[in-house]
Amino acid sequence: MQKIAVFPGSFDPFTKGHENVISRALPLFDKIFIAIGHNTEKKSFFTLDQRLKMIGKLYQGEPKIVLDYYEGLTVDYCKKIGAQYLLRGLRTAADFEYERAIAQINRMMNPEVETVFILAVPEFTPVNSTIIREILKYGGDASQFLPDKMVIDD
Ligand code: ADP
Repeated sequence: MQKIAVFPGSFDPFTKGHENVISRALPLFDKIFIAIGHNTEKKSFFTLDQRLKMIGKLYQGEPKIVLDYYEGLTVDYCKKIGAQYLLRGLRTAADFEYERAIAQINRMMNPEVETVFILAVPEFTPVNSTIIREILKYGGDASQFLPDKMVIDD
């Protein structure tokens, strides 16, 4: 049976930290769905289309990566696409507490989906989409925090 993982997130924007999690998870799974959690009521910095385009360009030609988006519960999305694993990254103790609760609740809702955590590498521990959005908002240069091949879509 194929090992299928979902890497869910807002990816607003997708950063070097996200890229690092994906590159380290690729050998572990047959397929990884990078799934943008889309909430029509919540305003994002980059539109869904921009994020799909930016991440899509990054992984074009990588057969193990599928790029998608979903609305609603992540566990329902996992069921829909037949994923057995949820992939998340951990940077700090705050991430751990937040992720722990979500992973435990998700497991109670769907015990067939196991959450797998990848620990951030030290150099990317401070890399966080919220801070990058602030830099971009005020016209700063955030390129060192974004994947080298990523083209900001505007
Ligand atoms: P969410 O919108 O669910 O908070 P994000 O889009 O911010 O998610 O990130 C998706 C996942 O990637 C989360 O598990 C988050 O902890 C992880 N992540 C974000 N930045 C990093 C980083 N620099 N290193 C490792 N993991 C990260």
